[in-house]
Amino acid sequence: MPELKASVIQWFRRDLRIADNPALCCAAKLGMPVIPVYIASDWRGCHHWTGPNRQHFLCKSLESLAKNLGTLGGRLIIRQGSAVTELRRLIIECHAVALHFNADPDPFGKSVENEVRKLCLELGVKCHSLADVALHGPDEVLTLSDLPYRVFTPYSKNWLQLEKPSPSSKPTALQTPENLESLPLPSVKIWGLDVPTTQMVDAGERAARDRLKLAIDGKIQNYSAKRDFPAENGTSRISQDLRYGLVSIRTVYSECIKARAAANPGGTAGIDVFIKELAWREFYFAILHHFPNVLDEEFNADWRGLPWDEPGEKFELWKSGHTGFPIVDAGMRELKATGFMHNRVRMITAMFLTKDLHIDWKQGESWFMQNLVDGEIASNNGGWQWSAGTGADAAPYFRIQNPWSQTARYDADGIYIKKWIPELGKVHPSLLLEPPKDGRPLVSGYPFPCVDHKTERERTLAIFKRHRARHQ
Ligand code: FAD
Repeated sequence: MPELKASVIQWFRRDLRIADNPALCCAAKLGMPVIPVYIASDWRGCHHWTGPNRQHFLCKSLESLAKNLGTLGGRLIIRQGSAVTELRRLIIECHAVALHFNADPDPFGKSVENEVRKLCLELGVKCHSLADVALHGPDEVLTLSDLPYRVFTPYSKNWLQLEKPSPSSKPTALQTPENLESLPLPSVKIWGLDVPTTQMVDAGERAARDRLKLAIDGKIQNYSAKRDFPAENGTSRISQDLRYGLVSIRTVYSECIKARAAANPGGTAGIDVFIKELAWREFYFAILHHFPNVLDEEFNADWRGLPWDEPGEKFELWKSGHTGFPIVDAGMRELKATGFMHNRVRMITAMFLTKDLHIDWKQGESWFMQNLVDGEIASNNGGWQWSAGTGADAAPYFRIQNPWSQTARYDADGIYIKKWIPELGKVHPSLLLEPPKDGRPLVSGYPFPCVDHKTERERTLAIFKRHRARHQ
């Protein structure tokens, strides 16, 4: 039988770390036994917002969290099913007097939180929800009229000026009651999936800390010069760590500020650009919070109801990296092989799907969510709507990136392309910058471009113009 001493539950969700974890820190300070719990959901079949890569990364991060809690004397309890049902059981089982968790920015997470708050009220348990995922919550960065921003630049100016919270210390000890039942640490098999063979980055708090150190010490000073070149490895690679809370955003920001204080003027400029990217992340959290309809429709009402093509065979070519556009295919194959895609190439592949293949951005959004290890609903939706030209502060519809000139600009030597498309290894880089002139594939085994960019560009312009004319 579990001990009857009053205790506090620490409900882990997307905050799988012990350092600078506001809810855990607060729970530990109560001086009661702490029950750290993770409730594996029954997501499969319910929605299309995740896939084997992210679930596997989650499982590996839970392994690391369990070890880290063990070093403090705690024990991670694993349950599976509905969060509300499992928390009800646990509260009753262990006579919990309080429940602590860090708030989730996603609409799904928020609706569960509302149910959990009601549960706590019903059971007379104190419910503490803490802010964690962002430096500034969506209601902290508003216009002078207290309205949400719709454009990034004024949002970021306001965001940059606000005082930023500092990281807190980690608890020194935890005591978890013995005899509490726990399922084994989960693997993707619990969702009926096979362990993916994807070459993803290492999971867990330590791996995330190492990546952050590498980024701060070696990358962010040159960030503005290198970040757009996918062969350069010039970005931080911390997106999945922020997604799963393996490192806190406060730690990331405070490390940037320390590095900035020690950097020369060239270096500070790179760090400032990097910090602005952190602001983009929070801009998209704010957009999703204030305009949750963006998950179902275009942010910009002018572009609702656009006549997209059915996602047929061309969508399959795009997903598998066989469109015949090397930069697009390289990106899609990087995604398949690693669960990651470089930001510049995310933009190119997204714009290609919507503007060259005329396929609804929601199809691409969903494919990315199913494959990206860093899949973050707000940023992904923001990135897709930006690329489609339908979002908040999006690329205007007529600014259509040309995949060939994007290659000339960002992968002129074809290094990134050849890494992911070995069939093209012996092709001269200059031949990757335009469609094959002789009307035949570049090499046997690699397809001829599935569409003509110029023709599709004209079609897109006509579709958008016609739509605007009809709806004005
Ligand atoms: P860095 O360049 O080192 O940037 C540091 C951090 O800033 C990132 O880890 C991320 O948290 C944030 N950031 C950087 N750029 C953006 C941006 N444009 N929007 C929002 N946050 C940003 N990012 C995700 O985290 N999850 C997604 O699901 C996601 N989907 C995207 C889909 C599309 C179509 C596009 C165009 C972009 C998407 N992004 C997404 C944004 C961006 O591509 C990734 O954050 C970035 O590539 C991650 O690599 P990094 O950690 O090396 O980034």
